[in-house]
Amino acid sequence: MWQCPNCHRRFLNENQSHFCRPIDTIDEYIAEQPEEVRPLLQSVRQTIRAAAPDATERISWQMPTFWQGENLIHFAAFQRHISLYPGSEAVAAFAHRLKGYKTSKGCIQFPFDKPIDHELIADIVRFRLEQAAKGESIFQKPAPRERCPMPDFVADALTKANLWERYNVRPPYQQNDYLRWITQAKREETRQKRLAQMLAELEAGDAYMGMPYRAKTE
Ligand SMILES: [Zn+2]
Repeated sequence: MWQCPNCHRRFLNENQSHFCRPIDTIDEYIAEQPEEVRPLLQSVRQTIRAAAPDATERISWQMPTFWQGENLIHFAAFQRHISLYPGSEAVAAFAHRLKGYKTSKGCIQFPFDKPIDHELIADIVRFRLEQAAKGESIFQKPAPRERCPMPDFVADALTKANLWERYNVRPPYQQNDYLRWITQAKREETRQKRLAQMLAELEAGDAYMGMPYRAKTE
């Protein structure tokens, strides 16, 4: 177990990356990042803001997000790059300008050691605005995820730890993510580690997969 010296939460992995406080605004998100990347994050934020001046800033899926009728774009800071999440259609539409960038479905990586192409980011945001205005984006409608069945060993562990009640009040997406994450581990040791993390997080009640989580109270 590793304990964060800042927020004192405990994690299975040494130096587990996490937010010490729940993040509600883009300012708070940026403030939690290493000092040297903050100006870069602010500049990306300004570029998106300038391209979509009517969009609302919010935090969604733990990431800075611009919203206008739907999520236009998210970004997130990593150790060596910023990831931009404009949706898979945008990534496909800009493929000709994304050679030399690492991309995956719906995501583009901008490495810190390369000048950020703000023009490209602005064009992608404008593309997203057009899509959103026409209401033809599929960005907001990800394919329904397959439900992961509850394996016996997880059920047994929940029973043994007396955590069924806490498991059952978690949103279905969290239950599903946990089960998939645990069962997809290739090594038994990893599987047990992940199971232990889920149990610890259910017990603590304020975390989900290493991220802060606040249960909605009615
Ligand atoms: Zn912390």
